[in-house]
Amino acid sequence: MQKIRVRAHAKINLYLDVVGKREDGYHNLETIFHSIGLYDDVIITKQETKEITVRCEHPRVPGDSRNLAYQAAQLLCDAVGGIGSITIDIHKRIPVAAGLAGGSANAAAVLHGVNELFELGFTQERLMRFGAELGADVPFCLHGGAAFGTGIGDQLTRLPALSDLPLLLLNPGIEISTANVFKKLNFSLTKRENAGIIIKTHIEKGDTLGMAESLYNCLEVPVFAQHPEIAARKAELSKQAGCSGALMSGSGATLFAVMLNSESARRSESRFKNRVDFCTTTVTSPVGVYIED
Ligand code: ATP
Repeated sequence: MQKIRVRAHAKINLYLDVVGKREDGYHNLETIFHSIGLYDDVIITKQETKEITVRCEHPRVPGDSRNLAYQAAQLLCDAVGGIGSITIDIHKRIPVAAGLAGGSANAAAVLHGVNELFELGFTQERLMRFGAELGADVPFCLHGGAAFGTGIGDQLTRLPALSDLPLLLLNPGIEISTANVFKKLNFSLTKRENAGIIIKTHIEKGDTLGMAESLYNCLEVPVFAQHPEIAARKAELSKQAGCSGALMSGSGATLFAVMLNSESARRSESRFKNRVDFCTTTVTSPVGVYIED
C-alpha cells in the first residue's frame, strides 16, 4: 500500500468546566467530548524523497513543522528510528482556531494512518499516549465517539455515543485565543455543583432532550464578555424552531445547536448561511478517525 486516506472528524464539547489550575500553567478540566460528522480529508502517501511534507491549501494552516500533522508524523518517525518519507495532504473543511479541534483531528489522523500504512503495530493506547504529547484534544480525536475527559482533557472514559443527532454549527468568524480565555476565567463564577454528573447521566440513558437542556461551558463567560456579538448569535440560535439547546464549543468561537430533526436544522441553516462566516448542518459521529477504502 502506497497511500491511505483518513477522515479526521471534528469534536464539540457538550460540557466543559475548569476545576483547577495546575502548577505547569495548564488547567484541569471536566469535559464531555463528542465527535461530529464534519471532517477534514488527510491523505498520507509514501515518497522517494527523505522528508515529511505537509500540503494544505488553507491560508491559516502552516505547511511546515508547526503543523500538528507534521509533528505527529515526526513523533512516530522518531519512535521507530525512521520510516522513510511521507507527504501529508490536508483538505480542510473544519474551521481553523474555532474550538472544533481541527489541528488535533489532523494529528490523530496521521498517528492512526501512519501506524496502518507502515504497519508499525502500535496499540490504540500507545497512539493515544503519543497524542497527549502533541495536544490535550489529540487523545480524544483518536478515541472518537463520546467520552468524559478529565486532567487537561486527555484522561478519557468512554460514554455511549449519541447516534445521528442533528446539529447546526455556526462560526461567527472571530478567532479566539485559548490562552487569553483561560487567563480571564473567574473560578468562583464558574462552579456548578453536579452539573457534569447530570449531563453524563442523560447521555448514559440516551436522553438527548435532557442532555440538550443540560449543555454547559464555563468558557462562555469570558468569551461573551469580550465578544458580545457571539452571545447575541447564541441567543438567536437558541430561539430557532426545533432547537433543544445551544452552546459554544471549547474556547470558541463556534456555536452549535442540538436540533430536533434534520429538517429544522436545514431550515435554520438557510437563515444563517449568508450572515456568518461558516454555517453547516451535521450530526454526531461514532468515530474520530476513519480509514477510507
Ligand atoms: P482546539 O479546539 O483543540 O483548541 P481549535 O479548533 O480551536 O483547537 P485548530 O483548528 O486546531 O484550533 O487551530 C489552532 C491553531 O493551530 C491555528 O492557529 C493553526 O495555525 C495551528 N495549526 C497547526 N496545525 C494545524 C492543522 N493541521 N490544522 C489546523 N490548524 C493547525
